[in-house]
Amino acid sequence: MIFIVALLSAAAWAQTADLIVENANIYTVNRAQPKASAMAVKDGRILAVGGDMARYRGARTRRIDARGATIVPGMIDSHGHMAGLGDSLETLDLREANSSGEVARAVERAARTKPKGEWIRGRAWDQTRWPGGEFPDSAELSRVSPEHPVYLTRVDGHAAWVNRRALEIADINASTQDPPGGRILRDKQGRPTGILIDRAQGLVSRKIPPAGVEQVRARILRAAKECARLGLTGVHDAGVSERELTAYHVLAAGGELPVRVYAMIGGPGQLWEEYLKRGPELGDYLTVRSIKLVADGALGSRGAALKEPYTDEPGNRGLLILKEEDIERVAKQAVARGFQVNTHAIGDRANRAVLDAYGAALGGANDRRFRVEHAQIVSLGDFPLFRKYSVIASIQATHATSDMRWAEKRLGPARIQGAYAWQRFRKLGVRIANGSDFPVESPDPLWGFYASVTRQDHTGMPAGGWMPEQRLSPEEALESWTIGGAYAAFEEKTKGTLEPGKFADFVMLSTDIMKIPPAEILKTHVRMTVVGGRIVYQEKP
Ligand SMILES: [Zn+2]
Repeated sequence: MIFIVALLSAAAWAQTADLIVENANIYTVNRAQPKASAMAVKDGRILAVGGDMARYRGARTRRIDARGATIVPGMIDSHGHMAGLGDSLETLDLREANSSGEVARAVERAARTKPKGEWIRGRAWDQTRWPGGEFPDSAELSRVSPEHPVYLTRVDGHAAWVNRRALEIADINASTQDPPGGRILRDKQGRPTGILIDRAQGLVSRKIPPAGVEQVRARILRAAKECARLGLTGVHDAGVSERELTAYHVLAAGGELPVRVYAMIGGPGQLWEEYLKRGPELGDYLTVRSIKLVADGALGSRGAALKEPYTDEPGNRGLLILKEEDIERVAKQAVARGFQVNTHAIGDRANRAVLDAYGAALGGANDRRFRVEHAQIVSLGDFPLFRKYSVIASIQATHATSDMRWAEKRLGPARIQGAYAWQRFRKLGVRIANGSDFPVESPDPLWGFYASVTRQDHTGMPAGGWMPEQRLSPEEALESWTIGGAYAAFEEKTKGTLEPGKFADFVMLSTDIMKIPPAEILKTHVRMTVVGGRIVYQEKP
């Protein structure tokens, strides 16, 4: 009898939640139960989703009254660069500075928080915004930062403003000659003023030491916290180095990562060879089971590989960085060892080359879930190849809204039909995963959600949206930011929707993004981010 009682109470205990969220407007992304008002969590996973959670309540259950707030599954950025984001967060953003004095004050603040000798970097200053509009000089920076070398790039990247310490380290003085393609600005006595034009910037930038292990770890952690703040619970890091992966291992082992990371091995080097031997590494916070390749460049700089020349530069078809046979070789290695291949392809020629290489390794329909990263410009006749080889289109909605002003100039009216064409994928039954490519774009998934449903910039232009037939509905957009990313990482059984058994990864928002006018999406903020039942970010009241 005692034995039975013990069993019964164990069963009851097993049903007692650690956390219950009530009075919420929950979008589950689970088609079998799309809406709910409450959710119970136990041991980091969802115990129940529905209405009344009273029977899961115990003495130690933490209760959160959502007061009607909207909850969605934790958003997944399927293509970002964590160390890059951390690096940009460490770099002073000087875009808004209205005088050289404002820049100097920002440098002074940075100098107070860094050990002596460490570099202070900044970007995007623009002297044309300042009184007088003249280039500044090194003295102003040297006064506020005598011990830290300072390197600040202009908004267009064509000039750098440095302090005396940086000039000393680079050994630039009155007798230094201008390098080819560059100029050192000088005063009347011929002394360097601290402004370096074009290639002269390299004289100093080359002296900035690459980040060490500790610094990389700090950058990744900083970026991960920023992601959690923005409502991301998962990030696919699109190409990591050995050093970055080491940092991830340390952070994951220490339980320090606030978001889950799906790290792609950055290219077929030594790290790839090692992983081919050991096989995929699966974990709750860190998974390594894919490789990232890069097939071509970008559209803005006309590096994307096109089948026919650029409309605005006849004779230039861009460049394939990898040969098709190289992609095929890696794809076959990956198939043999249970890895996924994720290849950057922007231009229609690059997309076709990747699809053909994948096809040679995959044969036909499959569950390898190979991905094309960006899948930006695809010939209309090539779309079915995504379907044929079960390839996922890993898109970035904000790339469309950043590029829309000039994309058609590059491509002309015919090719643009297959550019950023998300609904063409969807209508063929091709899976899409959404992302931002941060730090190229903002990591804010709500900006990505907005771009997905509007195809407009933040002022609401163009009216009706750019190529509006390619917009995603709010439901499709939310899927692409949640279950789409989970599927693209083989993680749809544990992530991407809110249903019993899955990880308790969810986000509480200040508005109902599924119902409000799009302009209000941009004013939405994240109230709380929960990963594995743990609050990793909470807005200050
Ligand atoms: Zn990228």
